[in-house]
Amino acid sequence: QLKGKTAVITGSNSGIGLGVARELARAGANVVLNSFTDRDEDHAIAREIADTFGVTARYIKADLSKADEARALVEQAGACDILVNNAGIQHVAPVDEFPTEKWDAIIAINLSSAFHTTAVALPMMRKAGWGRIVNIASAHGLTASPYKSAYIAAKHGIVGLSKTVGLETAREPITCNAICPGYVLTPLVEAQIPDTAKKYDMSEDEVKQKVILERQPSKEFATVEQVGGTAVFLCSDAAAQITGTTISVDGGWTAL
Ligand code: NAD
Repeated sequence: QLKGKTAVITGSNSGIGLGVARELARAGANVVLNSFTDRDEDHAIAREIADTFGVTARYIKADLSKADEARALVEQAGACDILVNNAGIQHVAPVDEFPTEKWDAIIAINLSSAFHTTAVALPMMRKAGWGRIVNIASAHGLTASPYKSAYIAAKHGIVGLSKTVGLETAREPITCNAICPGYVLTPLVEAQIPDTAKKYDMSEDEVKQKVILERQPSKEFATVEQVGGTAVFLCSDAAAQITGTTISVDGGWTAL
């Protein structure tokens, strides 16, 4: 149902971004993949998506910690009917020990990059007469946990940005929303397990079951396909009046 639309998905050579790109391509959208790496493997992922789903798929390198590269990504895409702001990093430390450069990087990549890509994409959407902005926030855009100050500040920020852009485009055929996933087992989450294990003096398996899924009443990780399917829904006609809001994919986390 998204045939002929072009989707730009930031941070999409791995995890949720790749899952969202695949589901959008499955629904017929042409996709632009991105990361800061520019490896052969990144271009190979684009070729595999093009072959599997019969769409156009390209990879464009951009380091989203830099404003000009975030803006250039959307410009180079040439078209951007669907913008998925997904790129994100994490760092876990108490606020009084939180390294300033980690704080700055997390705010730049997880929050400011979405401002820059949105600012460039909106005029393109207006010209095309249709647009969808899907920001990948987090349950941590609605609730907090200790030791993740920068991430949680950025995710609350992107929920606020989604509401504001939803209001600014309310009279147009453009929507802007945030998806708030609970835990999804991706490289980003796996990387937190050793540190958390140390902090709580637990084995890595115990961390998965007792610390991570402790917050998630379903006791199951959400999948990248489920987050991708939610993005496809937000791009559908059924979702045309859903704007400036959040959709949780969190196994009940935010109901607690
Ligand atoms: P991941 O580490 O698998 O993917 C992160 C992506 O961001 C990668 O494609 C990486 O290349 C890209 N990226 C990182 N720094 C970048 C930079 N400077 N420039 C361009 N791209 C960059 O992690 P993930 O779990 O798939 O996370 C994706 C998004 O989903 C993040 O915003 C994250 O906060 C959010 N999220 C994840 C979970 C979870 O449980 N995994 C839960 C809620 C929200």
